[in-house]
Amino acid sequence: MKKKLGQNFLRNADISQKIVELSDFDPLIKILEIGPGDGALTDMLIKLSSNLSLLEYDSDLILPLKNKYKKYNFEIINDDARTYKINSNSKTNIIGNLPYYASNIIIRNFMFQKPVNSMVFTVQKEVGAQIVAGNGKKSYLSLLIQSYCEVKELLIIKNTEFFPVPKVDSMTVKITPKAIANNPKYNDFIRKSFSNPRKKILNSISMGLSLSSEEVKALLSFSNIDENLRPQHLSLGDWKNLYEKFKNL
Ligand code: SAM
Repeated sequence: MKKKLGQNFLRNADISQKIVELSDFDPLIKILEIGPGDGALTDMLIKLSSNLSLLEYDSDLILPLKNKYKKYNFEIINDDARTYKINSNSKTNIIGNLPYYASNIIIRNFMFQKPVNSMVFTVQKEVGAQIVAGNGKKSYLSLLIQSYCEVKELLIIKNTEFFPVPKVDSMTVKITPKAIANNPKYNDFIRKSFSNPRKKILNSISMGLSLSSEEVKALLSFSNIDENLRPQHLSLGDWKNLYEKFKNL
């Protein structure tokens, strides 16, 4: 197995089954599985739908997958999920036990693609916790994803359920885009505002966006936000509010 490709294979069929059940995918909607590996999830997905495509980056796994599933008529694509673009307009549900080294970038690649209906991803538990974080614990990743998607924790999976055993446990999350257009300026605003997450919001925004303390104080006061809070304490509503005021500076 290739460590650098994040190949930790799930070895418990009950958990694979549970992930597919909890995904609650409509069997009539096309499914794209990312990183099928040797088929731990695929084995369960074929019971749900025949409208399935597999996207695997490791070319050495393509032939074994083709052989294993030769009686099924689904597409097996050898490509990189960090950059792959869905080339059809049909609604698509995406599922995958993601390679940890690339989970963040894979989520960001798919969350803005129009055909995507919903995504069920297994990621490192810490990354999952950021994706579903409530107020007081939000990071840039939480805000970015929650600004555009509904999020839900589905399952915690012990590290020992995978082989080779990774260092940390995993979390399966469901991410459902809300059909809000990507706004790179807003994304840039929150990313820069989080550039010093341990500092108070006043300093973090002023340093990240190169604004004077007076400008940021005014921005915070117009938005009714206490300047002594830290970036993680602000709610999604606070950030949206703050961005609206910032746009008009
Ligand atoms: N689905 C299998 C399972 O649950 O046992 C394998 C999961 S393993 C954590 C991650 C899989 O993603 C591996 O098959 C790996 O080769 C594949 N992979 C790694 N990088 C990828 C990328 N950039 N695009 C698509 N697949 C990738």
